Amino acid sequence: MTHTARKRFGQNFLRDHSIIDAIIRAINPQPDDIVVEIGPGLGALTQPLSGCLKHLSVIEIDRDIIEYLKNQPFADKLTIYSGDVLNFDFAQIGGIKKVVGNLPYNISTPLLFHLTKYANEISEMHFMLQKEVVERMCAAPNNKHYGRLSVALQYFFAMEEIIAVPSAAFDPAPKVDSAVVRMVSQVGRIGVASNFEHFSHLLTASFAMRRKTIHNNLKGLADDDDLLSVAINPTWRAENITPEQFVALSNYLVAKN
Ligand code: SAM
Repeated sequence: MTHTARKRFGQNFLRDHSIIDAIIRAINPQPDDIVVEIGPGLGALTQPLSGCLKHLSVIEIDRDIIEYLKNQPFADKLTIYSGDVLNFDFAQIGGIKKVVGNLPYNISTPLLFHLTKYANEISEMHFMLQKEVVERMCAAPNNKHYGRLSVALQYFFAMEEIIAVPSAAFDPAPKVDSAVVRMVSQVGRIGVASNFEHFSHLLTASFAMRRKTIHNNLKGLADDDDLLSVAINPTWRAENITPEQFVALSNYLVAKN
């Protein structure tokens, strides 16, 4: 089949076999692993993965691609879920899962947030993403890439960039550089928020205006005494505050109110 890549589905197909091999080695699939691939496309990762696994679940939105996959020799290993991964209930696949994929970049941030809901039933994830997004995910405090995405994901996962991928590795080539990130689920690694909604809201408010001090961004939510009680200097910006301190501040405010 000749498939014309669809921009609206973020279709950039991997064609560099050394990169594909490196990703498969990083995933290190074992026959009995419960693996879910997001966006299998024309099977660049699906084929080698299915060679290592007894079974593989894939989620794909493009119906033409689904028809193509059904006709591949490895199709008997697959359960194909047709639809938008942003609405996909990962809990319907039982057991502790490994999630992988060369993701559609246009939905990467909402997709990462969607996956946090299932962090307790995911052991690890390997994703190809825009390099700039991977830098934001993995950033530490006092780094210009550090922001709400970093803290919100680091709450659930230990993360590292493991493979840098040039755009020439894809067909068609995206306009941006890419990278593969490993995300290992470690809920509780930076503490446990007693009220997760409050914690999320606090992060959004703290990073709302990056140039403003935390004192200004949190007006009405926390006063200077609250900040000082968890060792946050009110003159700092959100980028100077560690993930652990955000959890501690949220828990302090929840307990106080
Ligand atoms: N895995 C293939 C590869 O590496 O060559 C394809 C990767 S391509 C970047 C992204 C894939 O995700 C495409 O197959 C696309 O159709 C699919 N996709 C895009 N948006 C999706 C969505 N909302 N839900 C599920 N799949 C989606």
